[in-house]
Amino acid sequence: MKYKIIQEVEKCIGCGACQATCPENWVLQKGKAKPKKQVITEKELKCNKEAAKVCPVQCIKITKV
Ligand code: SF4
Repeated sequence: MKYKIIQEVEKCIGCGACQATCPENWVLQKGKAKPKKQVITEKELKCNKEAAKVCPVQCIKITKV
């Protein structure tokens, strides 16, 4: 099973919470967060799910591919 990360970049306030929670897949670039990989495996899901949870503006969504 694979999952896709959908981020509403325009909503991102660049707080860094996702990166702090899941540095494996989140980087901050020019004041906005960005996932290194948009399609992730089951193994990578937990960390990215946590990142979605801690995002204060809830702009990270994860769907099944
Ligand atoms: S936690 Fe949300 S608002 Fe904060 S940097 Fe990450 S995507 Fe942007």
